[in-house]
Amino acid sequence: MPVALVGGTIYVSPTEEPIEDGIVVVDGGKIAAVGSRTVVEIPSSGQLLNCSGFTITAGFWNNHVHFFERKWANAAEIPALELRRQLRDMLTRYGFTTAFDLASEWKNTRNIRDRIESEEVPGPRIRSTGEGLIPPGAVPSETVLHMMGAMNVPVPEVKNAKEAAIAARKLLDQGVDGIKLFASSPRSAALPQSAIEAAAKEAHRAGKPVFVHPNNGIDVLTAVRGGADVIAHTTPQSGDWDETILSEVKAHRVALTPTLTIWKYYARHDRASIQDQVVKTETEQLRAWISIGGAVLFGTDLGAVDPDPTEEYTLMTQAGMNFREILASLTTEPAERFGESHRLGRIAPGFQADLVVLRGDPSRNIETLAVVEYTLRDGRIIYHRGLRV
Ligand SMILES: [Zn+2]
Repeated sequence: MPVALVGGTIYVSPTEEPIEDGIVVVDGGKIAAVGSRTVVEIPSSGQLLNCSGFTITAGFWNNHVHFFERKWANAAEIPALELRRQLRDMLTRYGFTTAFDLASEWKNTRNIRDRIESEEVPGPRIRSTGEGLIPPGAVPSETVLHMMGAMNVPVPEVKNAKEAAIAARKLLDQGVDGIKLFASSPRSAALPQSAIEAAAKEAHRAGKPVFVHPNNGIDVLTAVRGGADVIAHTTPQSGDWDETILSEVKAHRVALTPTLTIWKYYARHDRASIQDQVVKTETEQLRAWISIGGAVLFGTDLGAVDPDPTEEYTLMTQAGMNFREILASLTTEPAERFGESHRLGRIAPGFQADLVVLRGDPSRNIETLAVVEYTLRDGRIIYHRGLRV
């Protein structure tokens, strides 16, 4: 049964001029047609969604999330309605049709994904690195984990290239979609570059990306030189990123998930001037990254922060990104980085019908990116603002 979204302003991609008073026709899970009302015919049967006054874009990606909160434990036993509600509150109500989980219990996260893919519950596409590889002693104490709201599950500790290669291969054999390494922690020595290289070699051989969590500029440098594809955070704790870091980033074409909100949140108990400094440093790091043409993938460390992405959008604009650049970080940039640009990230005939309908115009007010009327995945409405689960 076709679905027609009628009357909205359509951004088919972040770089093309929007179509005013447009129509998107969805059929069989894919985009059947897109264009202005004068060109595209409304199907005679099927569902009609009135999108007048709304903005339509391709489905959003959140490229740094975690399914490690206690609410996801024993995923097989969470009642369907509750699982659906949790996925809505975390992801679909904000337009996320794809989420890349960067460290959680793989077996459990895979179960959540299976329940979505079997259409038992509506939800986003989930990709996951499974358990992150960490330096010995880097796991927080049970008390801290409990305060973070995280499940206490075993994580592979690695200290050298050999152990990193073995741990990465084991995860890849279990079917993960990427490898995540923690470069260092306040409780441990940093991983040697050779360990990141060894894990990256395994991942790349399997055609999968490598994500690295850095705590400072040195970690970023080690990660980039070690073959990381995505730097999972800015590092406002460590001051500005210098020329050496930026030139390596440029040479290696590495991407960044900025996660600006989380550092501001962690600084909330500190004096106002310290909070200001955190925001200044992280936005300067993002600004410098963009100035050298570095790729940005939208990511919030969701699971460790409040699900509402409004503040992240605002902080990204403070770093100099405009609406179209932020839209690219939510759509075309991740689709390209993760090898899906032939079917996701844009609104074009034949592409998967992953769509977000926003209440208003995000080119005028960036906060509109978080005000979602409908989220569609594969042509199915997986979130509608007017309906409670
Ligand atoms: Zn994270």
